Amino acid sequence: MDLNLTEAQSAFRDEVRAFLEANLPEDIRETQRSGAHLSEDQYRRWHKILGDKGWSTPLWPREHGGTGWSPVEYAIFDEECHLMGAPRVLPFSVSMLGPVLINFGNDEQRERFLPGIRSGEDWWSQGFSEPGAGSDLANLKTSAVRDGDHYIVNGQKTWTTLGQYGDWIFCLVRTDPSAAKPQTGISFILIDMKSEGVEVRPIITIDGSHEVNEVWFTDVRVPAENLVGQENMGWTYAKFLLQNERIGIAAVGQSKAQLANLKRLAATEKKNGKPLSEDPTFKLKLAEVEIELRALDLTNKRMLVETERGMDPGPVSSMLKIRGSEVAQRLYELKMDAAGLYALPFQPEAAEEGWNGELAGSTAQARSAPHYLNTRKISIYGGSNEIQRSIVSKMMLGF
Ligand SMILES: Cc1cc2nc3c(=O)[nH]c(=O)nc-3n(C[C@H](O)[C@H](O)[C@H](O)COP(=O)(O)OP(=O)(O)OC[C@H]3O[C@@H](n4cnc5c(N)ncnc54)[C@H](O)[C@@H]3O)c2cc1C
Repeated sequence: MDLNLTEAQSAFRDEVRAFLEANLPEDIRETQRSGAHLSEDQYRRWHKILGDKGWSTPLWPREHGGTGWSPVEYAIFDEECHLMGAPRVLPFSVSMLGPVLINFGNDEQRERFLPGIRSGEDWWSQGFSEPGAGSDLANLKTSAVRDGDHYIVNGQKTWTTLGQYGDWIFCLVRTDPSAAKPQTGISFILIDMKSEGVEVRPIITIDGSHEVNEVWFTDVRVPAENLVGQENMGWTYAKFLLQNERIGIAAVGQSKAQLANLKRLAATEKKNGKPLSEDPTFKLKLAEVEIELRALDLTNKRMLVETERGMDPGPVSSMLKIRGSEVAQRLYELKMDAAGLYALPFQPEAAEEGWNGELAGSTAQARSAPHYLNTRKISIYGGSNEIQRSIVSKMMLGF
């Protein structure tokens, strides 16, 4: 199997690079490259720029605003974005909700919601997880009871990423508590976050940042027309949605960009008067993780080529999630090594955009501890690595 770029793919990569060079705002590139948190405005602005170009929803069918790119072209785009310092468009609206509406929504819902997803004007949050319903998602308790032409929603969602900016939230709710199997009593519903009775409460994570939230619903009236597909069929749509997370799950582009950052940092740090990049122990650790990343890159490309040929990647996507998150976490561990003692002070505010406080070392050093702590999450979200291992064991090893 030839994994090198074809001539057409190289030309496509050049086109992406040229677009990014001309259109990526300098402040967004700088925030992203320096590892600070992007502001709401920066997320929204970049989404709009891609939307205006017609590149915000590349994997959608063409008739709904997709680009017609192949999975390999999408991977090239994703990698170039990371290397150039362009943020990833958040997956909730584009990769999760959009395909569900296209496949299971009705014409009115598509006309009403797809334009706002393409332009980024509507910020969507994902309301699946609840306390007691993460890995065991079918255990969810948030209820939706039909009342005339509305549903009345009560309950709590948790870990809602960037829900503090959300305009809308797509939720799994229980509509039939007496169903024989928990999976068969669940529906998929769209809730306006400005509705009365919706409350967003911050969860401050171990790195000191406000990235996730609890979302509480108290007697929230949701028009019945916001139900997607059929009542009690939400589990089917949720499984479809989670499958769409596969592409990009290995986060190869992101890790390549992080490796480049780490090498830059190691070249400037000194150990015994010499740059850390010349220290044999550090070099060995760096080489190990770089080899892992190359192997991951090749496995990812192999999966993309196979997907392009119509094959189902199956449990390979679980393997990619496990290895991809492990490599990413290792890179942040090495960044802590590189920052040395300067990583010790806990300065979470150093990760905020535009922060200009006093530092013992460099900004990159001060950010290494918050980054290390923050990236503990990547082996948990999107299906924890333990759950992924069970999938691999069941589907590949037959246990
Ligand atoms: C930063 C972050 C952002 C998130 N964003 C969102 C979001 O926007 N929207 C949303 O809906 N959800 C979101 N999540 C939730 C995420 O999907 C869940 O955290 C994840 O599914 C794990 O569920 P849990 O946290 O309830 O852990 P649990 O399911 O309680 O698991 C706890 C531990 O037990 C292990 N475990 C559980 N069951 C098994 C088993 N059967 N076999 C072996 N080990 C097992 C897990 O691997 C884990 O280590 C986010 C999570 C994080 C950390």
